[in-house]
Amino acid sequence: MKRRDFIRATGAGAVAAGGLMGTAPAIAGRKIRWKMVTTWPKNFPGLGTGANFLARTITELSGGRLTVRVYGAKELVPAFEIFDAVSRGTAEMGHGASYYWKGKSEAAQFFSAVPFGLTAQEMNAWLYHGGGMELWREVYAEFGLLPAAAGNTGVQMGGWFNKEINSVADLKGLKMRIPGLGGEVLRRAGGTPVSLPGGEIFTSLQSGAIDATEWVGPYNDLAFGLYKAAKHYYYPGWHEPGTTLECFVNRKAFEALPKDLQAIVTHACRVANQDMLAEYTARNNAALRTLVEEHKVDLRRFPDDVLARLKQLSDEVVAEIADKDPLSRKVYDAFVKFREQVVAWSDVSERAYLNARQD
Ligand code: CA
Repeated sequence: MKRRDFIRATGAGAVAAGGLMGTAPAIAGRKIRWKMVTTWPKNFPGLGTGANFLARTITELSGGRLTVRVYGAKELVPAFEIFDAVSRGTAEMGHGASYYWKGKSEAAQFFSAVPFGLTAQEMNAWLYHGGGMELWREVYAEFGLLPAAAGNTGVQMGGWFNKEINSVADLKGLKMRIPGLGGEVLRRAGGTPVSLPGGEIFTSLQSGAIDATEWVGPYNDLAFGLYKAAKHYYYPGWHEPGTTLECFVNRKAFEALPKDLQAIVTHACRVANQDMLAEYTARNNAALRTLVEEHKVDLRRFPDDVLARLKQLSDEVVAEIADKDPLSRKVYDAFVKFREQVVAWSDVSERAYLNARQD
């Protein structure tokens, strides 16, 4: 036994770590240092601090045997280059959102958020116990990456509007900052989706360059001061009903770790996934109260016919992803099947209870 353990620790591990990664072999007792690159500005509330939490959790659980240093966007590589950077081993880990990698793989979009898709609770059910994780691994396999869910914002807000949305017709000509699939849905509804980095949203809304913007939810939106630039705050965030944030790890770096450190990385992601959702839930409700009571924000629900039209268009847009390639078809079919089943259950559990509580 002793000899076999020794060979495993110093032989195969050393070849894997030294040979493939060009780093020191993972010999017991030696400290391993990993870099985590992120799509978020350093320490960005909720998302960036969620990445920090994950890094700290891995470092603490391993007793410092595996330390992870977090790099904000642009510190080591630009935000949207982290996928490639981890894929080629420039950094061992990345923290972002899978819909950013649509250009690499259309199917990747199903593992963050799709319009009228799954809530946070449903996403976790699909990923951990409904076959979703296996599909996600399959999608990232060709890039040499191992994905994990590592955070969730919960249901986002519909966004900030300078004009009222009373009917489907009000979406026509609406110039709104809304990226990705949600933006494509708005375009089909007659609007003009605009892509803007976070730092340009406030001034664009204030100057009238855009009529509306979505961002995240009350916690992040309050910090951005968006209530100073728009009158109406609409809900729900139909386009991002429970956005999963991700951690991906370079597969060769992961395989070079001893088994216990592999388990720590895997389970730390689960802890971070849960913790971010809890943080968003706690801070969003406090921030919503501040927005409504202190800043007198006009909180509004999208009209039913507007949501119905957006859902119809969303179903079209999401279904088209399936036509892009066979793997996207496979993931889409699994996703849609799970959504149908879980919606039936959520109706008689979460929805029924929430409705009952409100009465
Ligand atoms: Ca958003």
